[in-house]
Amino acid sequence: EGQATATTVVKALRAIADLLHDQEEELGRLDAIAGDGDHGRGMTRGSAAAIEAAEAAAAQGVGPAAVLVDAGDAWAAKAGGTSGVLWGAALRSFGDLLPDHRAALPGDLAAGAAAALAAVQRLGRAELGDKTLVDALVPFVEKLRSEVDAGASGREAWARASEVATEAAAKTADLRPRTGRARPLAERSVGTPDPGATSLALALTRIGEVLAG
Ligand code: ADP
Ligand code: MG
Ligand code: MG
Repeated sequence: EGQATATTVVKALRAIADLLHDQEEELGRLDAIAGDGDHGRGMTRGSAAAIEAAEAAAAQGVGPAAVLVDAGDAWAAKAGGTSGVLWGAALRSFGDLLPDHRAALPGDLAAGAAAALAAVQRLGRAELGDKTLVDALVPFVEKLRSEVDAGASGREAWARASEVATEAAAKTADLRPRTGRARPLAERSVGTPDPGATSLALALTRIGEVLAG
């Protein structure tokens, strides 16, 4: 059963890598407005390294936690940049909460997402409203938890939480960056959504589509 979850993890990482490859230019454009323009490149490199490492790990027959640890390490090592470090840590932390010997339950997904957020905030120290990917991840985690607690299936809960994350990412357009590379040019970024929140919401939505099968 753990193998089934590991296979889903690999599918989700493949889908994310394909999506980010397609979005590379647009994410770079968003990051160039107030940041250094490398967000698309970093996400493409990180996710490509992650799927390669995940496939190698899965071929050894390990469970989802070990797959995500290897994927996260590869992402952080190859992406470069702040978002790469945070994504790598998030994947590792999420994986640690997935069971190795049974299929993942909705509660495992909610716990994994909460652990990913905790890792991101421990490393990056960003708070809500700082105009970072935390502004999409916090509402995602909260909605996932409340849907799971209300009895939704994993796929339903993930889909609804992704919608909330997408709305929250769009709303970052109103904010001024209070941390990260975009801070010095904060005013220039008003009217444009945060690149990291945007890519996160896209990736979460894509994962939801994989879970829906
Ligand atoms: P870099 O800023 O190092 O060039 P990227 O361009 O890949 O890295 O990623 C930029 C994104 O990283 C931002 O749009 C923001 O969402 C996210 N980010 C930056 N600093 C932080 C932080 N301290 N906590 C959470 N996310 C952050
Ligand atoms: Mg950048
Ligand atoms: Mg950079």
